[in-house]
Amino acid sequence: MDLWVEEYQTKDMVIACRVKRTLHEEKTPFQELAVVDTDQFGRMLLLDNVIQTTIKDEFVYHEMISHVALNTHRSPAKVLVIGGGDGGVVREVVKHQSVEKVVHCEIDGAVIEAARKFLPEISCSLDHPKVEIIVDDGIKHVRDHKNSYDVIIIDSTDPVGPAEGLFSAAFYQDIFASLTDGGIFVAQTESPFFNGDLIKRIHQDVAGIFPLTRLYLANVPTYPGGLWTFTMGSKKYDPLQADHTQMAGLDTKYYSPDIHFSAFVLPPFVQALLK
Ligand code: SAM
Repeated sequence: MDLWVEEYQTKDMVIACRVKRTLHEEKTPFQELAVVDTDQFGRMLLLDNVIQTTIKDEFVYHEMISHVALNTHRSPAKVLVIGGGDGGVVREVVKHQSVEKVVHCEIDGAVIEAARKFLPEISCSLDHPKVEIIVDDGIKHVRDHKNSYDVIIIDSTDPVGPAEGLFSAAFYQDIFASLTDGGIFVAQTESPFFNGDLIKRIHQDVAGIFPLTRLYLANVPTYPGGLWTFTMGSKKYDPLQADHTQMAGLDTKYYSPDIHFSAFVLPPFVQALLK
């Protein structure tokens, strides 16, 4: 039988992948979870029918949401990952020697369990001795932990349901309070083709709270439009002044010292969103 998984990336556009096998389907208290094996991208995690990560292209997103901020901070020791139940960000964070502790706060424990079982290449560092997993709402966790983290990485679903508050100005204010002096946060902030108004609003909100706000790009084939944005708020360090020597020696497939800097080169239509 010819089976396909379809994601409506906008109401007028669909991405579809041929499914070899459905590995898991579950309704959690938060979302519909599925893991399917596809010919084009290998195993794929979907939440509410939206592609979250795939074996073939996950490295782009996970490396780019992690290493840019971690290499901008001069010596990140305590890191918080919000969302990211598949474990891909945690896997990248523990590659950094200076990191002593990674707190991973994911609202839906079922995502972690499915990733452990069906996506071991991505979830492989969840049991690393530096990692503490907390199943809770990241909004609440940040509110309850002031002056606690050097870097906070927000690897969230789209801004609907439990993730909606992760895109609010009030949340960015709590993030600021949760960061130590010199702290940095980074969040995935969707597609510049399809979510321009959101990106613009987030940039303004973060710029109203943090001394330095920067946006950078990466190409993730399975995300709407392919081109993806990340927004960074920093108390002190500028990613454009990051130390090249600190970036060397990381085992990566997309991120590199050159990519670190070139990711901040924005096409005029993206620059226009930040004016
Ligand atoms: N890289 C993905 C993307 O951009 O599509 C996101 C992947 S990751 C699986 C997103 C995770 O964020 C989900 O597992 C979801 O349960 C979690 N999440 C959503 N809202 C959250 C919240 N308020 N606190 C903590 N985790 C949350």
